[in-house]
Amino acid sequence: MDKKVLNEVFHNLDRSFFLDGPCKDLASFDEPLPIGYGQTISQPTLVVAMTALLDPEPHSRVLEIGTGSGYQTALLASFCQTVYTVERIVELAEKARQRLQALGLCNVCYRTGDGSEGWPQEAPFDRIMVTAAAAIVLPALEEQMVRGGRMVIPVGPQGWQDLLLVRKTHDGRIFRESIEKVAFVELVGPYGWHGKREDTE
Ligand code: SAH
Repeated sequence: MDKKVLNEVFHNLDRSFFLDGPCKDLASFDEPLPIGYGQTISQPTLVVAMTALLDPEPHSRVLEIGTGSGYQTALLASFCQTVYTVERIVELAEKARQRLQALGLCNVCYRTGDGSEGWPQEAPFDRIMVTAAAAIVLPALEEQMVRGGRMVIPVGPQGWQDLLLVRKTHDGRIFRESIEKVAFVELVGPYGWHGKREDTE
């Protein structure tokens, strides 16, 4: 993707539009902020860095797990063909949908529920962005990547995780690269810290 255009879109995207109440006034700080229901929006520099790392292309079909406020979704939707976004908290999903529709972003498909198994009906995906931390790389998501595809996912224990770039080569091999330390909220479900499958890898 064109990093110059990414920076332009990023600077034109008003983060306060994705926040409520007193947090709106803090939108310009490069800090994670609460979005309600115990969830947080990441700091803007991390959102833009993760988007650059995912490297969506105009024809890309992107799966996003953790719609949250819709801020990351808006950035992705500006650079790809379609975003398929999954959020488990109904209220957040509905608010995000309203915001993204108000911005005229029509290339977003929404699903409310657990994203741990990806979105099999729409798979495979060229890019996968996970914005909640998992105990391991989710097998279903790796399966739902096209050959030549990329996934960005925070993996590790509560507190600090490794932000991984997972690449599937054209002959189907998987490479995982640790990019930096990050702190995300939990991916709730079987692959979260409280899930049952933490010892399967
Ligand atoms: N990218 C978002 C922030 C996401 S915070 C933004 O820009 O605002 C992480 C989100 O992942 C939360 O909204 C949380 O509810 C959601 N989430 C956690 N576990 C999930 C799961 N198993 N399936 C779908 N969404 C999940």
